[in-house]
Amino acid sequence: MRAIILLGPPGAGKGTQAERLAAALGVAHISTGAILRQAAAEGTPLGLEARRIMQAGDLVSDELVLGIVEERVGADDCRGGFILDGYPRNRAQAEALDDLLRRLGADPAVVNIAVPSAELESRIRLRRLDTGREDDAEAAVRRRLAIHEAESRPLLDHYRGRVSEISGLGSRDEVFERLQERIFGEPVGAGVP
Ligand code: AMP
Repeated sequence: MRAIILLGPPGAGKGTQAERLAAALGVAHISTGAILRQAAAEGTPLGLEARRIMQAGDLVSDELVLGIVEERVGADDCRGGFILDGYPRNRAQAEALDDLLRRLGADPAVVNIAVPSAELESRIRLRRLDTGREDDAEAAVRRRLAIHEAESRPLLDHYRGRVSEISGLGSRDEVFERLQERIFGEPVGAGVP
């Protein structure tokens, strides 16, 4: 089973790239953020609780997201593989994921999309105008970037020797080319938009 983990700060373009890569490979795209936003929109008690945490730019509990990921990877569309976008975000999640992938017999490719923080802030500001994402408000963005530095960036150490890095600067197409080259050694899915 093919498993790909995309790491990188908020605003690095993980979601965009994961979606394209999933379409090119015919595998599932798992975005824990998108699943949580969907639950929030549905107004379930869990979703509303998650919404409050997301609005503040904090991380929801490891138990909740692990439950989401475990359930999601068991779905039919994940049989051929999946791309994780937004998970793991801290060491405890990475360790839980190591176990899960071991059980699935998957040896993940891990790619970090690197973007300087000044660029991230301006990208997120633009995204907010575009999508109106509540957690793209200034205070929440600062909190998300700080949490990324404190909790998620150390994952590069967890995956040391296994993670490769690409620059997330430039156009979406340029980043997608780099991503494919890093994972496969050459572009795949020519013609996929
Ligand atoms: P994202 O769309 O990946 O930027 O995620 C948006 C928000 O959802 C994050 O700021 C967190 O509040 C929450 N979230 C998404 N993935 C996770 C995760 N793996 N662990 C904890 N919280 C998460």
